[in-house]
Amino acid sequence: MSIHNRTQPIRVVVLPGDGIGPEVIASAVSVLQAAAAAHQLDLELIERPIAGAAIEAEARPLPESTLQLCRDADAVLFGAAGGPRWDHLRGDARPGAAIHGLRQRLGLSINLRPVRAFPALSSCGPLRPEITRGTDFIVVRELSAGAYYGAHGRSGEGDSERAHDTITYSRQQIARVVGFAFALARGRSRHLTSVDKANALVSGRLWRDVTSELAADNPDVALDHQLIDSFALRMLQRPSALDVVVAENLFGDILSDEAAAISGSLGLMASASLNPDGGPALYEPIHGTAPDIAGRGIANPVGSILSVALLFEHSLRLPELAAEIRTAVDAALDAGARTPDLGGTSSTAEMTAAILAGMSQAPPARRGEASAASPRRRGAASPSEGNRVPVGPLPDGENRA
Ligand code: NAD
Ligand code: MN
Repeated sequence: MSIHNRTQPIRVVVLPGDGIGPEVIASAVSVLQAAAAAHQLDLELIERPIAGAAIEAEARPLPESTLQLCRDADAVLFGAAGGPRWDHLRGDARPGAAIHGLRQRLGLSINLRPVRAFPALSSCGPLRPEITRGTDFIVVRELSAGAYYGAHGRSGEGDSERAHDTITYSRQQIARVVGFAFALARGRSRHLTSVDKANALVSGRLWRDVTSELAADNPDVALDHQLIDSFALRMLQRPSALDVVVAENLFGDILSDEAAAISGSLGLMASASLNPDGGPALYEPIHGTAPDIAGRGIANPVGSILSVALLFEHSLRLPELAAEIRTAVDAALDAGARTPDLGGTSSTAEMTAAILAGMSQAPPARRGEASAASPRRRGAASPSEGNRVPVGPLPDGENRA
């Protein structure tokens, strides 16, 4: 059934988190609401504290009731986790345990991180425009295994103190993410780059073996094996040659942060975390809580807003709404809207307003209707299920220019 004629509202759990998380997620929510209103989608938002904010409110970073809400949702929109206030906490008590727990408990083993060179920002980043021009690739990061989930340990004292983290991959875990990357490449330019460290790591050897075997089943996609160390350089030398890049968890994390240099700022980068077997997916900017700028209203909201575009594309199967959001972001950048990380002076609210101004507007309210939205939107909420974000017209001045 299409999103347009289903009887249940689209339910999105909103988890702003800490630091600049609430600032950029407020922007993302206003874009999500504007797109839904303009296309008469019945949207239900449920907002909950997560990570540090949940430690303060409910004494744990990922309350079980919040996890259950996420399981029952169509999608989860996440801000960022952590901050100096909670740096003394360890293990499952840490704010970061919330995002790792969500990934694990929702089976989110695939993380998509698109990398684009925005034409308007060609002089914002550290790379020359002739190098970044035309860059449009996607990093597929394995999200459920590897060093973050293998055996960890710390023992001994003084000079003999030691610590270890273990990279463990099964054939099935590798085949799941690489198979997904092959399928993704098939729908794009049919070029897959697999990144590993097969010359030094046994897990890298297995990664390369499984990937080479899958290549035989995908003869229409050109496969290229690259070693992580030299690829980290090559990615910045010729980014426009890339189409789909697949890597294990730790390498994918590092490469996608590095790739922010191509776009111009970490604040521009979006991500989607998917369960390849279906179920709710999670959307978040790739940046953290940025304690150095939190509370000042100057965080770049684009990474979070483009995460909403990914939500429309992957969870709601409405690629035309995703395209509309991306076009509105490009138009705002073309018109000169820039937060300080891009060398400008726009506030988060001004940047958001510039993007909203480029989106299609809700049709005028018909007689007898309280708002421009579909009649189903109101009254669909039952008051027992958590704190709902008001789903209605945007605050004055935020849109409708
Ligand atoms: P960070 O991404 O928070 O910040 C790195 C730099 O980029 C900072 O200078 C920051 O000001 C800037 N920056 C990041 N996002 C921005 C935005 N939207 N607009 C403008 N500038 C932006 O990384 P960090 O400083 O290494 O970590 C800070 C905290 O965030 C730590 O507690 C860390 O654990 C946490 N963290 C959380 C996540 C997550 O929730 N997924 C990811 C990374 C880091
Ligand atoms: Mn990272």
